[in-house]
Amino acid sequence: IKRRDYTPAEFTEGILEGNITILSQAVTLVESAKHEHQQMAQEIIERCLPYAGKSVRIGITGVPGAGKSTSIDSFGMHLIKEGRKLAVLAIDPSSERSKGSILGDKTRMEALSREKNAFIRPSPSAGSLGGVARKTRETIVLCEAAGFDTVFVETVGVGQSETAVHSMVDFFLLIQLAGTGDELQGIKRGIMEMADGIIINKADGDNVDKARLAASQFKNALHLFPPAESGWFPKVLTYSGYYNIGIKQIWDMVAEYVRFTKDNGYFDFKRNEQAKYWMYESINETLKDSFYNNKAVTAILSQTENQVLSNEISSFVAAKRMIDTYLANLSGK
Ligand code: GDP
Repeated sequence: IKRRDYTPAEFTEGILEGNITILSQAVTLVESAKHEHQQMAQEIIERCLPYAGKSVRIGITGVPGAGKSTSIDSFGMHLIKEGRKLAVLAIDPSSERSKGSILGDKTRMEALSREKNAFIRPSPSAGSLGGVARKTRETIVLCEAAGFDTVFVETVGVGQSETAVHSMVDFFLLIQLAGTGDELQGIKRGIMEMADGIIINKADGDNVDKARLAASQFKNALHLFPPAESGWFPKVLTYSGYYNIGIKQIWDMVAEYVRFTKDNGYFDFKRNEQAKYWMYESINETLKDSFYNNKAVTAILSQTENQVLSNEISSFVAAKRMIDTYLANLSGK
């Protein structure tokens, strides 16, 4: 039977059984811009919610070339061998422009993509960063309901997408490379401050000493930051994603963090804060969609914009006129 023949209840049943084909189709509904798909998706999410929340969610970031795909492949294989089920999701801000996301692409994770206990899904590619992030946030719920106990959310270390990822994960992992002694240059302070673990990749061959040096520089720099709310002091480790060196230590660190924050209550506190954040994000996104899809609004939007451009009216007057038009149309006046 085809996707359109499933009811939300049947979708949910398939997801709870761990049926990957049905899970993928449900994620496609989550990502769809069509109104009826969104309605279906929201109903499926609601039904799945009671079964969600039990995974450990890990954000992974690093600049292109840092070794994210190589690392995720070996991290993932390590976790699969421990008997875990892993979902790899992504938030790629550039996909908005190129309309084709690379992050999360299966072909980048060769070993993992052959594993039945791994679910790899590229970044949703349409809409604003907020919209893309919300879809990934919702996909986490479906993956958890399908029995995935570990979720990776990958992003490129270049900007605002880190904040979005940080708002949906329990542990934030920053992949770095050792360079020429100027390791700390060009790393945005905000990104470092979000990290619960900094891992220096490519610590292999001639690069081992440089990686260790970089690690001690990061450790020193972290001491300059105010203590994290979690009470956890971020760890710095070196490893090689390609040669599979130091992978176990990274997952021991994540496990230690989870134990530590579950004991001191921060784990649940942060999940609650995130739930609150996503409530407001959803409100904002929904209002925006409703506004820009409103017929009365779209009928006069470009004309109003032109009036602003030709200095006929100020931007504030224009904005007020648009909002008034929207509100009047909503109340049917
Ligand atoms: P991404 O852009 O962050 O996903 O990075 P990739 O995983 O595609 O890796 C970029 C390049 O670095 C590739 O040529 C990899 O083979 C190489 N690479 C990744 N991890 C390691 C590592 O641990 N050691 C070494 N020597 N090279 C690596």
